[in-house]
Amino acid sequence: QKGDTDVSQRTLVLIKPDAVRRGLVGEILARLERKGLRIEEMRLRTMDADLADAHYADHVEKPFYPPLKEFMLSGPLVSLIVSGDESIPVIRALAGATDGRAAAPGTIRGDLSLSNRENLIHASDSEESAEREIKLWFG
Ligand code: ADP
Ligand code: MG
Repeated sequence: QKGDTDVSQRTLVLIKPDAVRRGLVGEILARLERKGLRIEEMRLRTMDADLADAHYADHVEKPFYPPLKEFMLSGPLVSLIVSGDESIPVIRALAGATDGRAAAPGTIRGDLSLSNRENLIHASDSEESAEREIKLWFG
């Protein structure tokens, strides 16, 4: 059995505009907090086009990007730095698969989203992207 690794990681989380509109910010924060993760920074803001293009640099050429960008700019979102033991894979697991229709019950997307685009939460997918995204969002 795997013991605690005590590898504390910092990761970037976005609670996306659909979650703010639907009043699910508290629900999502509660799931992160109950897991034992720590909120280090938190800010409500509306992203602009330049930040969207930088944040989603890997996706800007993909066909789903224009509607994704429009959605991400459509209202305020909550940006967070979250820390905890292996927080990067832990939060990805709490979020669930990208497509809310396919995401497992028990996950944030699996319980609360029925969409491949409006899927409530972003979480960095590696230490490299966490470092890049934290710089981008919190300087
Ligand atoms: P994840 O957020 O799970 O890491 P990706 O990095 O693949 O997923 O995609 C970034 C975001 O783009 C997704 O969270 C989702 O909002 C949107 N997205 C991804 N693939 C699609 C798709 N096929 N159709 C619509 N939106 C998509
Ligand atoms: Mg991703």
